[in-house]
Amino acid sequence: MSYVEEVYQNLEKKHPAEPEFLEAAKRILDSLDPIVKAHEDVYRKNALLERFVEPERIISFRVPWTDDKGVNHVNLGYRVQFNSAIGPYKGGLRFHPSVNQSILKFLGMEQILKNSLTSLPIGGGKGGSDFDPHGKSDAEVMRFCQSFMTELFKYIGKDTDVPAGDIGVGGREVGFLYGQYKRLTGLYEGVLTGKGLSFGGSLARTEATGYGLVYITDEMVKGAGKTLAGKTVLVSGSGNVAQYAVKKATELGAKVVTVSDSAGYIYDPNGINFEVLCQIKQVERARIKVYADRVPGSVYHEGEKPWGEKCDIALPCATQNEITGSDAEKLIANGCWCVAEGANMPSDADAIDRYEKARVESGFLFMPAKAANAGGVAVSALEMSQNSERLSWSFEEVDKKLKDIMVNIYKNVSTTAEKYGHAGDFVTGANIAGFEKVADAMLAQGLV
Ligand code: NDP
Repeated sequence: MSYVEEVYQNLEKKHPAEPEFLEAAKRILDSLDPIVKAHEDVYRKNALLERFVEPERIISFRVPWTDDKGVNHVNLGYRVQFNSAIGPYKGGLRFHPSVNQSILKFLGMEQILKNSLTSLPIGGGKGGSDFDPHGKSDAEVMRFCQSFMTELFKYIGKDTDVPAGDIGVGGREVGFLYGQYKRLTGLYEGVLTGKGLSFGGSLARTEATGYGLVYITDEMVKGAGKTLAGKTVLVSGSGNVAQYAVKKATELGAKVVTVSDSAGYIYDPNGINFEVLCQIKQVERARIKVYADRVPGSVYHEGEKPWGEKCDIALPCATQNEITGSDAEKLIANGCWCVAEGANMPSDADAIDRYEKARVESGFLFMPAKAANAGGVAVSALEMSQNSERLSWSFEEVDKKLKDIMVNIYKNVSTTAEKYGHAGDFVTGANIAGFEKVADAMLAQGLV
């Protein structure tokens, strides 16, 4: 049995009730096989994989809070401090009823590889609660955030663990969490990222994930001897990532013909109009179907996903598992030759198998989320740097650094894939490149 299989089997025995974590660990471990085989003696001697798959620490706690009617509730809170070999733990807090330890461990493991790819000094962590902010008043959300931070503050700090937002944790929640941290500790420090611009947030953080996605896509397309200019692009979603992917892709000369929400998608043969999109989503907070009433020539498709339209490039920016195996078939049959993931895990396992087949047959390009959407966490790390220096960089400075980081991620992922005999396989390239730096740091720091 190979070292990778051995470690996975032990993990299965230890954590039988954590299916999401086990599935992610299996996929990652399998793709690490080439690097593990190349260094097997050293890795085994140092129990490297056994340590890599276990979080350094998991903190779990109860979060009592009172709703507006005076009724008391108790939610569960967590922080998974996955790996600090290359920097303080960094990763979002998620407030969603589905949150549990298995999901947070899985996200923590993905996060350490993603953070490593940015080449910035940030380790991996993830946290959150099974609290659902939907339908709660601002006062209820504030009381929940204050109670959550009353326990969490003991375990975080600007040089130890720097959480950010994630699903259900946006600017409002980060503000409440930060206020309570400051009140409890008396410290005005960069302990959270995603802060408002008036209290230490970074310019270009809002744009970072969408812009970063397009920067890396541009680089990947150039690497295949093509250009983004003149290409037809499908974007899904119409939230933060989608909006800025539309904007940057259009600026670079591509034509984005779709955006969507959970109710349907818009097809605009003339290219999605960013100003109209922002007016609808950021100002009016209306459904995407309104776009078809405003822009002549565009069409709304109720209850459908955009993947049946003809395109060169698809940028899924909505949600997990939004591209299934049959969606991937449709995309490829309609001429799509490139997918880069703006959302986390938008392609299911069948879809990824289809991309891989098309890659081997015809050079299909696929950039997985941990590389393609790393621009968000990269600018979060730049927010930490600015907070430490007590400085605020200009939009242009941050954007330039973001672009350099995304170009470097592409180079690192593609050269690593090549080095380990998997040229063009950016899934393997991203996992190995992310892991390599973490593994080197863990080996250098001894058995801790
Ligand atoms: P937003 O909440 O701003 O937007 C999400 C978009 O996806 C909305 O248009 C939403 O439509 C749509 N959507 C949600 N569920 C579905 C569904 N089941 N089917 C179709 N569309 C759906 O989120 P973000 O743009 O911030 O994030 C999008 C993805 O990117 C997530 O996977 C997130 O984890 C990932 N990501 C985000 C980062 C960031 O910096 N924002 C960083 C890295 C990853 P509706 O309004 O109908 O719900």
